[in-house]
Amino acid sequence: MAETAEMEAVRCHGPRDYRLERVPVPEPGPGEILLRSEAVGICGSDLKCFGGAPMFWGDETRTGYCQPPVTPGHEFVGRVAALDDDARERHGVDVGDRVAVEQIVPCEACAYCKAGQYWLCAPHDIFGFRQRTPGAMGEYMVVPAAARVHAFPADLPPSHAALAEPLSCSLHAVDRGEVGPDDVVVVAGAGPIGLGMVLGARRRRPRALVAIDLDPHRRTVAQQCGADVVLAPGDDVEPTILELTDGLGCDVYLDATGHPAGVTQGLQLLRKRGRFIEYGVFGQPVTTDWTVIGDGKELDIRGAHLGPNQWPTAIEMLSAGEVPAEAIVTHEFPIDRFDEAFETAGTPGKAIKVSVLPPGGQR
Ligand SMILES: [Zn+2]
Ligand SMILES: [Zn+2]
Repeated sequence: MAETAEMEAVRCHGPRDYRLERVPVPEPGPGEILLRSEAVGICGSDLKCFGGAPMFWGDETRTGYCQPPVTPGHEFVGRVAALDDDARERHGVDVGDRVAVEQIVPCEACAYCKAGQYWLCAPHDIFGFRQRTPGAMGEYMVVPAAARVHAFPADLPPSHAALAEPLSCSLHAVDRGEVGPDDVVVVAGAGPIGLGMVLGARRRRPRALVAIDLDPHRRTVAQQCGADVVLAPGDDVEPTILELTDGLGCDVYLDATGHPAGVTQGLQLLRKRGRFIEYGVFGQPVTTDWTVIGDGKELDIRGAHLGPNQWPTAIEMLSAGEVPAEAIVTHEFPIDRFDEAFETAGTPGKAIKVSVLPPGGQR
């Protein structure tokens, strides 16, 4: 084997304690793929983990989700470096192929997996957080046999191809919103998830599509993605929505803000019987007036998590050039500058999607 036995990988040891280390190249077992990582997007969840959020690190009463030391990275594409016949047959890919891999590795044994709801899998091993599923922020990684692997034949820059993960999430949220041609749709937050929601909602030709974000650059990109109207939270948001809807309010509100104000705003903007889809991950509990949900408007409140069954569509949209990836991926950093990548991703107003490029993805 031509590879050296060691490689460089970013390793998470604790909040704000991520290090570039030399570690052994992992060995794929039966049915597994050795993947040479090309690009890893930094997600809001990665930033929350990096910053020490309780959901990842626990508090006095519970254990957090993250199991250090672990290599982060769940939004990635890579090239197949090695695999056995079982993996070849299972995943329909071969050495040299580029693949995108779904972020959750289903256990295939729990009640959710058995019911086909693999994205809700009880053990919930997502790449880059747990010991069983180290992520892609290193030169190589192992893709377990149960992982959901998708061939990605189009020759896109790796950081653009890696948008398949957030885009699949956005498409799932749009699906949960049952967006249709009669709907006036509001997308709150024009980060990578919100922009993907705009792209996904646009494909369903809604009556009107509105995007709201604080950042002027993000609003411009939202227009590129197909928003009819873009607004800042300080603008006359409510009057504008009422004007678009004969005074009723929007039909669907897709929240990708991760901010408590995004929740209150949605409850306020929706019409009676409107659909509220929550995709945000919040840094703290949100308090709001639940009376609006029942007595006030009889709303449908739905959550959305991950991007189940949406990966083929996401890959197709990226391959067809439907996604302004050039505008969404604002920064790329080689793996040895991962700390700058996290800092840039975590600075408000600076970046949309920041991508880390291991050696396999550097041009
Ligand atoms: Zn993510
Ligand atoms: Zn399961």
